[in-house]
Amino acid sequence: DAKFKLRDVEVFYGENRAIKSVSLDIATNEVIAFIGPSGCGKSTFLRSLNRMNDSVESCRVKGTLELDGQDLYDPRQDVVELRARVGMVFQKPNPFPKSIYDNVAYGPRIHGLANRKSDLDDIVESSLRKAGLWDEVKDRLDATATGMSGGQQQRLCIARTIAVSPEVVLMDEPCSALDPIATAKVEELIAELSQSYTIVIVTHSMQQAARVSHRTAYFHLGHLVEVNDTSTVFTAP
Ligand code: ADP
Ligand code: ADP
Repeated sequence: DAKFKLRDVEVFYGENRAIKSVSLDIATNEVIAFIGPSGCGKSTFLRSLNRMNDSVESCRVKGTLELDGQDLYDPRQDVVELRARVGMVFQKPNPFPKSIYDNVAYGPRIHGLANRKSDLDDIVESSLRKAGLWDEVKDRLDATATGMSGGQQQRLCIARTIAVSPEVVLMDEPCSALDPIATAKVEELIAELSQSYTIVIVTHSMQQAARVSHRTAYFHLGHLVEVNDTSTVFTAP
């Protein structure tokens, strides 16, 4: 079953057509990587999947974009609810300047996912465990998140995203600001998360696409040029 069904998707910034007629299905629990040169539209495309572009005044999205058969751009769609279902992790780790605990508890609090403190504690712990961070932070949940290493901050941002039980996690070059060891940890995490979530990742690295994705899609000048099984792209005949 398709998680996303996209038909003739176009994204404009004013007169500039940044995404040109993209049609694609993204399957539930697949990891699909988007690669291509800088400025080819990868971020714009990714942001159209949870309406992150809504805040850009000049931006218009056209075509069919369905999530589980529902129109993402239906005016009745609650965008806050949509962004819980389709979470996003950014290039630069951007934890709130709050405690580690409060970063992860933020979404569940807003969405009313926990009635009692003990329920919230459970969500925070399980999210940090899923992000591979629990053992590193369990004794300092009250410490400020911005004091962590970059790699830890990025895994905290992943924990914050999954704390609201999304169906999809969008990742925009999630390792570009990280050192090689932190990158390897996040890549390992992506492989684990793919058991439970649909993951759409933008990367400029073919090697990263090869390591983490099931399918690789190429953008060039706003066109989706090719989509292939990653194993066939990177395996010599
Ligand atoms: P990246 O290639 O990592 O997406 P960019 O440098 O292209 O980073 O973009 C950084 C920010 O600037 C993004 O928020 C993007 O939306 C915005 N941006 C990019 N191009 C333009 C533009 N022509 N006009 C206004 N904002 C832009
Ligand atoms: P990529 O992520 O592949 O680097 P982007 O999606 O950031 O590409 O940019 C695609 C095109 O859209 C570029 O021409 C860029 O300048 C333009 N663009 C991106 N963000 C904005 C924005 N906020 N306002 C105007 N143009 C933008």
